[in-house]
Amino acid sequence: MYRTNTCGELRKENIGTTVTLAGWVQTVRKFGAITFVDLRDRYGITQLLFGESLNTKLEEQPIGREYVIQVVGTVTERSNKNLHIPTGEIEINVTSFSILNKSAVPPFTIQDDTDGGDDLRMKYRFLDLRRNAVKKNLELRYAVNRSVRNYMHENLFMDIETPFLIKSTPEGARDFVVPSRMNPGQFYALPQSPQTFKQLLMVSGYDRYYQIVKCFRDEDLRADRQPEFTQIDCEMTFVEQEDILNMFEGLVKRVFKDVKNIDYTDRVERMTWEDAMWQYGNDKPDIRYGMQVLNLKSAFRKGGKITATGDLINGAGFGVFDNAETVLAIAVPGCAEYTRKQTDELTEWVKRPQIGMQGLVYIKCNVDGTYKSSVDKFYSEEKLKAIADAAGAVAGDLVLIVAGREERTRKAISDLRLELGKRLGLRKDNEFKLLWVLDFPLFEYAEDENRWVARHHPFTSPKPDHIEVMINNNPAIENADKYLEHPYSNIKANAYDLVLNGNEIGGGSIRIYQRSLQEKMFAALGMSEEEALHKFGFLLGAFEYGAPPHGGIAFGFDRLCSILGGSESIRDFIAFPKNNSGRDVMLDAPSTIDDKQFEELQIKLNFK
Ligand code: ASP
Repeated sequence: MYRTNTCGELRKENIGTTVTLAGWVQTVRKFGAITFVDLRDRYGITQLLFGESLNTKLEEQPIGREYVIQVVGTVTERSNKNLHIPTGEIEINVTSFSILNKSAVPPFTIQDDTDGGDDLRMKYRFLDLRRNAVKKNLELRYAVNRSVRNYMHENLFMDIETPFLIKSTPEGARDFVVPSRMNPGQFYALPQSPQTFKQLLMVSGYDRYYQIVKCFRDEDLRADRQPEFTQIDCEMTFVEQEDILNMFEGLVKRVFKDVKNIDYTDRVERMTWEDAMWQYGNDKPDIRYGMQVLNLKSAFRKGGKITATGDLINGAGFGVFDNAETVLAIAVPGCAEYTRKQTDELTEWVKRPQIGMQGLVYIKCNVDGTYKSSVDKFYSEEKLKAIADAAGAVAGDLVLIVAGREERTRKAISDLRLELGKRLGLRKDNEFKLLWVLDFPLFEYAEDENRWVARHHPFTSPKPDHIEVMINNNPAIENADKYLEHPYSNIKANAYDLVLNGNEIGGGSIRIYQRSLQEKMFAALGMSEEEALHKFGFLLGAFEYGAPPHGGIAFGFDRLCSILGGSESIRDFIAFPKNNSGRDVMLDAPSTIDDKQFEELQIKLNFK
């Protein structure tokens, strides 16, 4: 028997027992004739004491960091207790030991605060995974996995696997493709998600499906994306949006309870996409704090509740505001006392290329009731007060204003709001706030292709009272500059996103389930009939055989874990992640293949 106990298990109650332990050597400390070793395994660390009688053997067979050893000994009380670890009151008085395997000196220390840089840790990920910090993340991931499976099982969902080798139908991201040796010149694609399969399963009558499943997208990898990532993919039959929202906010609440012991009793808030964009400049707002965006002027808003307050800023002779497409403000609580240096720093912050603003205007709402601004020259104190009031500022607040092109300015104010939320400690790791964002636009205008693309995906249904608009209007866009005036830009989708602390953790929709409407949708996206049949004939065909109404959602599993773990990086929660260039530096993949493989695949490389 290799071991009687783990390295995390023994306590004072075990004193006097003889045990056998096996594990990795964390540290070796020699004090005169005595040697202390910390022995580590997945469960913890136990201190070993090698007395004088073992010195000769230790000299003959020295042990070093990360050696795998086995020891036999007696559990004894420690004179020098370490109450920071659960096994800290005991040690093992070793009577015999054997080295099961040696270790080369590891390239970095296997400790919480390691000296290994990112690249080194990834190259030796099997060593990095020995570190407690990484292990904790994987344990959390497993806890989330178990919690999800329990909830889904209790709610009658069936886990059904779907294939990885499928047909390439790129829409949105690029597909990863896999050549087929048996069908030379032909390729499979790896699924970007099991979307069409789960819909087919609904047609087949498996009315509650889920899967914790790998998805593959060949995208340019922005900071925290992975080319292969995991979704909790779900689909239900005979449901309306409300059913889905209830079922899946239940899932996330259950995960909060099981994994974090948090009772999320608050009602999950809901907001339309339009309100999210206008009140936060962003379709996944962090609602743990206020600081809502005020539109001082806007070129675009049509309908809706929020009115721009253009009259407060226009016509004062301040060209930047007068000529801007949009002017947006936030009131930052308690920051009226910012020094010149601080406001200058914020100005530089918004001028960085990632944000791309020309400048930043501020209004200080001083506690003595006066108003001081960087544009005093143009605006009277009453005007400044009126703007500050409209932005919801109170005495002591700092109003920040940016101006420019609609889309960029909106993003800038949203980024600024998030940055200040972080700096002011308003985005707390241990506070969780869920939000459903609803009523997304069905279409987005793709400027480079001059056509409509599906904002979610082409299987998403329009709101019932918008179907007519879709059917009765020609999708063609005559004047690209005026695409917002096309009726399609007002069509809303039966789509929803679940947002947690400013991150989209899940998104889905109620689907189209009638062949004719699905065909109209493909046509609206500029697909010819032949192309639609070629790509999605199987689905259109299935819709003719009793397809039931259905809808679903998919959660980003890696992201959910990282938020629950209080980390910004999903990589920390993936056992073997890829780096920012999509490489596995441990395997050195992707890599070239043998000539023989090329030959079998009948593929010739042809790039300059
Ligand atoms: N398949 C969708 C996605 O990956 C999610 C859904 O609509 O269920 O975004």
